[in-house]
Amino acid sequence: MPELPEVETLLHSLKRGEIEGSYITYVKVFNTQILTSPSPTFEKTLIDKKIERIGRRAKYLIFSLSDGYFLVIHLKMTGHLSLSDKIQKAQKHEHLQFGLNTQKILSFFDQRKFGRIYLLNDLKSFFSHLGPEPLDPAFDYKILLPKIKKSKRMIKALLLDQSFIAGLGNIYTDEALWEAKIHPQKLSSSLSLQEIKILFKAIKKSLQQGINNRGTSLGKNRSNFSDIYEQFGKNQEFLNAYGRFNKPCKRCKTLIKREKIAQRSSYFCPSCQR
Ligand SMILES: [Zn+2]
Repeated sequence: MPELPEVETLLHSLKRGEIEGSYITYVKVFNTQILTSPSPTFEKTLIDKKIERIGRRAKYLIFSLSDGYFLVIHLKMTGHLSLSDKIQKAQKHEHLQFGLNTQKILSFFDQRKFGRIYLLNDLKSFFSHLGPEPLDPAFDYKILLPKIKKSKRMIKALLLDQSFIAGLGNIYTDEALWEAKIHPQKLSSSLSLQEIKILFKAIKKSLQQGINNRGTSLGKNRSNFSDIYEQFGKNQEFLNAYGRFNKPCKRCKTLIKREKIAQRSSYFCPSCQR
């Protein structure tokens, strides 16, 4: 599932694609399942709208449109955006096409069809459930201290909770916990102030590394992460815990364990994560 670094990478590629400033000339929906508003009102509303700005909040992409509309895309498991410059009939797993006045076509693909596209007027209430952005320059872990100290949940479950902190998923949670030497099953309330400090530093480091490496792509087909130019990321080459079952820990050589924790397949070092 694309997490904060993958959505941010996608955003960077959308900015490079000069989509901001262009107008939507047509919308073709091949599968209404991905829409949260009824078709054909959805299509009609979007025609002739200008894409003024593209941004990100948590794992959502936000297209700010003229007339106060927002197109919000959540990729979920296997959602994918692709930019092309020639019209062709719908390809496999292609659910939607936006035609632009620049002659480019932005397509939404999704093999597993969990991805969702929202057409909204009000972003504030839509995003009201989300916790803070960990890479926001104004972010300070201290605002989360009361929640951590009160929580009787495992730290992994707490970090995956988007209402606690936004943008983390299974990969970067495992990476941050490895970096901070914290066991994923450790009770949140039992973390020391020092451990919490180290953990939030590790979260930022893991996410930033993911962005610098242009995301984590776990395979080479369309259900794996790539940007709008079908460029895969390379962060998978730098992972320390995630996906490294039975491989030696890069710190202490103990074999990495894999266990179901917080309903997710979790990777950790049983020796140096305590
Ligand atoms: Zn280790």
